[in-house]
Amino acid sequence: MGKALIIGAGGVAGVVAHKCCQNSEVFDEICVASRTLSKCEALKEKLGGGKTRVRAAKVDADNIAELTELIRAERPQIVINVALPYQDLSIMDACLATGVDYVDTANYEPPDVARFEYKWQWAYRDKFREAGITALLGSGFDPGVTGVYSAYARKHHFDKIHKIDILDANAGDHGYPFATNFNPEINIREVSAKGSYFNDGRFVEVEPMSIKREYNFPEIGTKDIYLLHHEEMESLAINIEGVKQIRFWMTFSQNYLNHLRVLENVGMTSIKPVMYEGREIIPLQFLKAVLPDPASLGPRTKGKTNIGCIFQGEKDGKPRNYYVYNVCDHQECYREVGSQAISYTTGVPAMIGAALIMTGVWRGPGVFNIEEFDPDPFMDALNRFGLPWRENFDPVLLEDF
Ligand code: NDP
Repeated sequence: MGKALIIGAGGVAGVVAHKCCQNSEVFDEICVASRTLSKCEALKEKLGGGKTRVRAAKVDADNIAELTELIRAERPQIVINVALPYQDLSIMDACLATGVDYVDTANYEPPDVARFEYKWQWAYRDKFREAGITALLGSGFDPGVTGVYSAYARKHHFDKIHKIDILDANAGDHGYPFATNFNPEINIREVSAKGSYFNDGRFVEVEPMSIKREYNFPEIGTKDIYLLHHEEMESLAINIEGVKQIRFWMTFSQNYLNHLRVLENVGMTSIKPVMYEGREIIPLQFLKAVLPDPASLGPRTKGKTNIGCIFQGEKDGKPRNYYVYNVCDHQECYREVGSQAISYTTGVPAMIGAALIMTGVWRGPGVFNIEEFDPDPFMDALNRFGLPWRENFDPVLLEDF
């Protein structure tokens, strides 16, 4: 039994806190900390009274000294970072200063350029190894469960994996003309960046949203999917030995894309500062302030998500295909933890990754991507904590380019 410090009090943090409380055999205490104490206190209020003790604290995670002080005062075994990707490095620094393990769900991004790369966090490998502590990177759904699925496919179903298609479908309807399902700033940076895929040892860049296909998803139906760059491709290309092709696909409705195009055309998605009434503002941050808060979508969102991976490769000298996926219902998530499925599918794996490290089932020391660990205990925990997976050995495949 031990204690986790959860940094962030947004949509994902709410689910992590709920799930830690459901897993009180591992988490006997949690502390939720963000810049806005009232949000942390509201979570404490909601979750208090169970077996897991809940505390609330205020911290600016950009400030390493402040964070180090909080970690020293709270004495957690692990820090679960579900703030924003900009805080990854300062939180890793504070973990190093205090000798505490670290988990996150999104790779570091410098605030001034939308670059999704692991190089900044991989540069901490020696420091974590020398300090004898573990950092688990990308323990959400994608990245996260998609890496666990890949490790599981490699371990149980393939001698060689040649191709991976990651498919992320959200058929949820929140009833607003335009809103994003997680932090709008991070979401829009991701979808307006160039697309890319891994092919024969290198990444090929394509214009944003320029490659479109259709896929008929189990329990969701046929949707338009678009090729995107996504961070887990970088680590899977290294850790799934011999893989030749990796592609990441996400569903977008025509309505979402029309709104996004207009916002881009008028400059509202830019991350370059502009002067407004004598003050510097970043258009995308202003846009975030006027869009619906993702946390408010929970009660309104109906429908399901389906996220999974299709693998093509060989086993015992014969070709083999394998599709493993999870279907999650927005309203069921809301009934259970008060959040929609996007926060749910991210928060459950963050809790599971933290629990496996806290109990010593996954051991470091060092900085690891999730597919580097044994997938079996994580796959079992997914079934136990609300994200059951299904498999199909004869899936419809996406054609090659
Ligand atoms: P929200 O915007 O809802 O919440 C972010 C939280 O971070 C807020 O509570 C905010 O605090 C806090 N925060 C921001 N800056 C700081 C800071 N300097 N110090 C302390 N706290 C800070 O985001 P989400 O919950 O939707 O997303 C959380 C993370 O999950 C993001 O990194 C996102 O990229 C990732 N994610 C990963 C997915 C995956 O599958 N791997 C999918 C979806 C999201 P405050 O209380 O002050 O507002």
